[in-house]
Amino acid sequence: MAYDHRVERPAEPRRTVLVVEDERNIRDLVCLHLGIEGMTCVPAADGTEAMEHARRQPFDLVVLDLMLPGLDGLSVCRAVRRETINRDVPILMLTARREEADTVLGLESGADDYLTKPFGVRELVARARALLRRGPRPAAAASGDGSRPLSYRDIEMDPARRRVRIGGRDVDLTAQEFQLLYVLLSNPGIVFSREALLQRVWKDDTYVTVRSVDTLVKRLRRKIEADSANPSVVLTVWGTGYKAADV
Ligand code: CA
Repeated sequence: MAYDHRVERPAEPRRTVLVVEDERNIRDLVCLHLGIEGMTCVPAADGTEAMEHARRQPFDLVVLDLMLPGLDGLSVCRAVRRETINRDVPILMLTARREEADTVLGLESGADDYLTKPFGVRELVARARALLRRGPRPAAAASGDGSRPLSYRDIEMDPARRRVRIGGRDVDLTAQEFQLLYVLLSNPGIVFSREALLQRVWKDDTYVTVRSVDTLVKRLRRKIEADSANPSVVLTVWGTGYKAADV
């Protein structure tokens, strides 16, 4: 098979993806379709095998099933983050239930995005591409602490001056609105749970709840969206959280 990792390959610029899934059909499906996209997949059937690969070679992306025999997906996720070689690799979690998403996307786990089973092939490819486009976790941008200016469609953000311009027009945002928008626009297409946003926007403030995120999003949309009832920038991901629309 095209993605068989036992075949010796010359050094090539293809993206390498570690695919960790105990269900063979799903593992083969993921490898097949990412392979069609030009990615080289290294399959692993359990967490131990995954860690052996992760310690040995750098990956551009890890697709990781949450429910694995033995070492589960969250443990693998944390262990990968502890290994220097793949510390910053984007991780796409596969979950069986939507309710697991918040755990998966929480800051503790270190996952960057998730897909709920059963998932469509197009969705898989789109998420994988979005993560690969973003590249290694930009620690500063992912945490929202970055100071680099960014541009997204006609929105320009300059954290040093806390300035936002949309289509050349200055928009007045509060510090929290700015922070929320900066986190989302730094990671287009990546879903953030309310908990993850809470931690990134409010840091250690314990007087806020996940509902504060919804309120903040509403306020932000009124300032930046052409039609805040039909947002095109800050999108709601049902039952999970929010994301910036893919560029
Ligand atoms: Ca499984």
